[in-house]
Amino acid sequence: MTVHVVGSINIDIIARVAALPKPGETVLALESTRLAGGKGANQAVAAARMGAACRMVGAVGADEGGGWIREIIASYGVEISGIAQVQAATGAAHIAVDSAGENQIIVLPGANAHVVAEPVDGGILLAQLEVPVQMLTTLFAASPSARRILNAAPPTPAALALLPHVDILIVNEHELAALAPGPSAPDQLRSLLTRPDQFGIVTLGAKGLLAVWPDRELFVPAWPVNAQDTIGAGDCFCGSLAALLDAGTPVEQALPLAAAAAALCTLKPGAAPAMPTRAEVDAFIA
Ligand code: ATP
Repeated sequence: MTVHVVGSINIDIIARVAALPKPGETVLALESTRLAGGKGANQAVAAARMGAACRMVGAVGADEGGGWIREIIASYGVEISGIAQVQAATGAAHIAVDSAGENQIIVLPGANAHVVAEPVDGGILLAQLEVPVQMLTTLFAASPSARRILNAAPPTPAALALLPHVDILIVNEHELAALAPGPSAPDQLRSLLTRPDQFGIVTLGAKGLLAVWPDRELFVPAWPVNAQDTIGAGDCFCGSLAALLDAGTPVEQALPLAAAAAALCTLKPGAAPAMPTRAEVDAFIA
């Protein structure tokens, strides 16, 4: 089948600085790099690297950056005919990182605000919340034959209207707290998911993850690695899980495999370049 990823595409412009600028201050960067990013693009690359036939629906500007990033996404094996080039600037994340790893990020949504997706029949539909939530709600409601996965990041109250049409919800601890405050992750997830066939996953960083069904829970520990850069680990988990479920892997097996992919992702810098292949994941867990 196919993993359909509907989501954001950003150019990440990363400036390394000695100290982050204070309001009104100008600082000189030590170096600057330009990388492909955006949760949608990262998750599509992760799914393709895990072996899925992956089609991305998104939007970039009709500018140099838009063409550049489309080609990068395609170079990872993602089918890009659903990435429109629209009359808006390509989405951009301006990121400053200081010597301690602390960062400041300013995101220009640009073309991501113009993403429009057609309903999907079968396969996996995977989305995040960096594209218009109203559009996603209509899309998910019109695609009941697909297995619909929502990574509710960044969290917004508008996502609550989308949840009845979601089959699998993935959040990290901060996103879960924002959507459903409370002391117990299982109770918080169950308050968001009311259909008996839905389930939720809260990722817990270096601790692992917890999957929550109406009547049971499954804790999956993280794979021990010497993490270098956790950027993209959450996106790697989401895209890898989508690819594994699309391949017919049972959920109980897919969860530790996707966690292994995410652990491998922390060993390399950046997001898209750090996504592992299925062969790399199999070799890691062997
Ligand atoms: P990010 O925003 O950093 O991309 P996130 O907050 O969305 O990530 P996390 O919960 O940090 O998501 O990580 C997702 C999964 O990646 C975890 O459930 C875990 O399996 C794996 N992971 C993250 N950090 C580590 C780590 N240091 N060591 C091993 N596995 C990790």
